[in-house]
Amino acid sequence: MKVVSRRQIMAESEYFKQLPKVELHAHLNGSLTEKTLEKLGCSESAIAEYEKLTRTAPTSRSLQECFGLFSQAYNVIKSPESVYVAARNVIEDFAKDNVIYLELRTTPRANVGMTKEDYIEAVVKAIGDHEYKNKILVKLILSLDRRHSKEESEKALELILRMREKYPSVIKGIDLCGNPEEGDFHETIFEKAKQFLGITIHCAEVKNDSEVERILMFGPNRIGHGTYLHPEHGGSQKNWELYLEKKIPLECCLTSNIICGTTKSYQDHHVRHWLDLKLPFSICTDDKGVFGTTLTKEYTLVQRHFDKIPENLWKMTYDSISHSFASEREKQDLQDQLIRWFNVCHPKIVSTIQNAYNNYTPADLDILLEEHQRDVYINDI
Ligand code: 5GP
Repeated sequence: MKVVSRRQIMAESEYFKQLPKVELHAHLNGSLTEKTLEKLGCSESAIAEYEKLTRTAPTSRSLQECFGLFSQAYNVIKSPESVYVAARNVIEDFAKDNVIYLELRTTPRANVGMTKEDYIEAVVKAIGDHEYKNKILVKLILSLDRRHSKEESEKALELILRMREKYPSVIKGIDLCGNPEEGDFHETIFEKAKQFLGITIHCAEVKNDSEVERILMFGPNRIGHGTYLHPEHGGSQKNWELYLEKKIPLECCLTSNIICGTTKSYQDHHVRHWLDLKLPFSICTDDKGVFGTTLTKEYTLVQRHFDKIPENLWKMTYDSISHSFASEREKQDLQDQLIRWFNVCHPKIVSTIQNAYNNYTPADLDILLEEHQRDVYINDI
């Protein structure tokens, strides 16, 4: 890793803040900021505890502890109204971070006074109503929790397919998530879903070669994390060769992997192999609330630790659009937007950052840095 000053980090972050970005892996209930939790009625002490866990410098926690963090959201999101507020706030946060395309995923939940159908309706309504319509295009991925029984997941799929018929331009994908140390991947469910929806599956978050092989053989459109896929990271040579044959785009979530303790350090992150071998991947936040991150921060981390020039990450974003579940027409529009940004804004921002860097006094830069830090948590980088 090159040694750079905090000012350079700030300049790089500014580039990535302004870059129109694409987010393909964001869980709704993991993406809530403290402000949203407060709005939803989370107690002060619960928020303080959440902050302590999510805003401290990355430390390793067990997967079990990480999965426990979602209960803060589940304690307050119990009605269609709260689901709606949560989804709207999360969309707004991403739009403010210059994300132009968001695939938001969530596991439909029932509660007293709320069916799973009400839950989905509330998220779809939030997607339709949000105030940033011209800034961000949002699609919905519905998740199946791997801890649920096969029968439960079959029932959930029936509901998802019914809702997809009602909202075909919004509900575009299905995901398998939940604690990877529990439950199972049921091929038959995803075989059925494949006819109607894009498929993304959390894969190789823990070492489980036989399941990884089954997922790769099934061939989802994308996989999440892929932490234990490469042999240097504990994967089997056979599965890595299978992966290289299939080249399934990877949704890569650096900070999440560090905080959950499945990756030792940013420099050791397995995305290195995807960069070196030019394999398809996109940078994602996973749970920006739980892991105290933003997409801008995740881009900056890749730049910092893997020494990539900003243009590489612009290209990665451009390519991510083709892995998305948007329609062909929408993909074309998004790619056109990125090309326009590259032609018009990229040179300007590069020179503005350079000028700012040259013209500001050190005191000015420190003030700017403080402001920026509040947004992007540079301390964690
Ligand atoms: P929700 O689906 O309730 O909107 O988002 C939170 C849920 O997403 C968690 O309870 C968990 O099931 C799933 N999830 C969030 N982050 C991860 C992750 O990194 N790995 C896996 N396997 N599941 C996750």
